[in-house]
Amino acid sequence: MELIYESGTVAESCGNCHTVTQCDVAETLRGGKRRWDLECSCPACGSVWHAGGTGKAPERFRNAIISTNGKWTIRLDDPSSSGARLLQVLRGAHDCSISEAKQLAESLRTSGIQGTLVDVESLSGKLLEAGIPASIKRLEE
Ligand SMILES: [Zn+2]
Repeated sequence: MELIYESGTVAESCGNCHTVTQCDVAETLRGGKRRWDLECSCPACGSVWHAGGTGKAPERFRNAIISTNGKWTIRLDDPSSSGARLLQVLRGAHDCSISEAKQLAESLRTSGIQGTLVDVESLSGKLLEAGIPASIKRLEE
């Protein structure tokens, strides 16, 4: 099963001695399911800790991943793709209202939707399941 993975570094405070340390944070996508993981090891006291969960990573971890890797963008290969099916996929993927989904659909047809690699790969997988091909590109600075 294909694994999509993107990681970054984030500063966390040690729960034991409060030393601020650089931790590794990663988002992964496997079999259409996303999760995130944080791994820390304190250089001062030797404490090791881990956090993680399913779904989107918390915002500050996502920002850390974006600042390390930059953003990615996803855009429809065929801007005239079926509107109803597209809206259905977007509502499922983003858990949003019809009007938000319409805005997202418009972005997908024009400039694209931006996010982490796992964001765009996750959406791309759902679109492909619905028979809507889309392309992913790293966003140029
Ligand atoms: Zn410590």
